[in-house]
Amino acid sequence: MRCRQATRIISDSHERSLTLQEKGGLRLHLAICSHCRNFKQNCDELSQLMKAFANNSRK
Ligand SMILES: [Zn+2]
Repeated sequence: MRCRQATRIISDSHERSLTLQEKGGLRLHLAICSHCRNFKQNCDELSQLMKAFANNSRK
């Protein structure tokens, strides 16, 4: 898997559930690629911020 695919899957993971194949490939890629680990962490944090924002604005 290349970084471009990995980052695509990371982005997709916030909008749909991944297939087992995607999850497996992503896990392998993250194990060897610190760039994509950082990207995933940023994406996860952003996603949590967006969720928190959505929750707050619903009150
Ligand atoms: Zn990568």
